Amino acid sequence: MRDLKHQQSKPIEIEIKGRKIGRDNFVFIAGPCTIENYEDLLNIASRLKKIGVNFFRGGAYKMRTSPYNFQGLGQEGLEYLKKVADETGMISVSEVVAAEDVELMSKHVDILQVGTRNMQNYRLLWKLGKIENPIILKRGMSSTIEEWLLAAEHILEAGNPNVILCERGIRTFENFTRHTLDISAIPAVKSLSNLPIIVDPSHSSGRREMIKSLSWAAMAAGADGLLIETHFDPDTTICDSEQTIDFEILAEILKKKDQLLDLWVKK
Ligand code: PEP
Ligand code: MN
Repeated sequence: MRDLKHQQSKPIEIEIKGRKIGRDNFVFIAGPCTIENYEDLLNIASRLKKIGVNFFRGGAYKMRTSPYNFQGLGQEGLEYLKKVADETGMISVSEVVAAEDVELMSKHVDILQVGTRNMQNYRLLWKLGKIENPIILKRGMSSTIEEWLLAAEHILEAGNPNVILCERGIRTFENFTRHTLDISAIPAVKSLSNLPIIVDPSHSSGRREMIKSLSWAAMAAGADGLLIETHFDPDTTICDSEQTIDFEILAEILKKKDQLLDLWVKK
């Protein structure tokens, strides 16, 4: 493992709008793959808040494999994220896809996410090192743990200490699932880095019926949070409906929180 100058001290806690993310503060982030309109986003966020989920996600700029698929609402989506966060008091998460969007996004979104396809976009990472918003850095789908932690180091070295790592599945020979969730990345990161690590069971499996077991597995393995695509009517969503869960499944996942996090003495 190459030198990780900024990740060797005791585990860090990231604070945002009075809420903490870290080893002793498990975080649930949920919401749609992409923002479709203001009403649906507000509806989803309000329902999440009611069941104790204070972080909501929604993509405004989408990194789609095909150029013929919906690319997101763009700036209009950012306005909706800000409005919903202001109205509900919740914390918003959305993906930043280009260095030139960083400034605008930092003003509209609380936590900026770097997607798997951009993990090694170092110019983007350096730009994110110059803002104060926490950054969720997803693991590149073909990246080693060392490459991932070094990518985080780029943001940290540039001056932003608020980095959260997100395991979202890697490419393997298996194609029954969309990617393969690397559960071993959780204890590996915890032994190598002081940054919080969360897990995305949605993009790793690509399968709705697996989200509950993978979420529980991540909690049992010591993850510091979960990022789950959730919608009140998953079958109707424009993007990633096959992996999006409804509120019923989300409630089942949440039900085991205390029991599973007790394994790590964190709630
Ligand atoms: C997302 O979370 O919306 C997303 C596109 O994830 P990933 O970059 O992991 O594919
Ligand atoms: Mn998605």
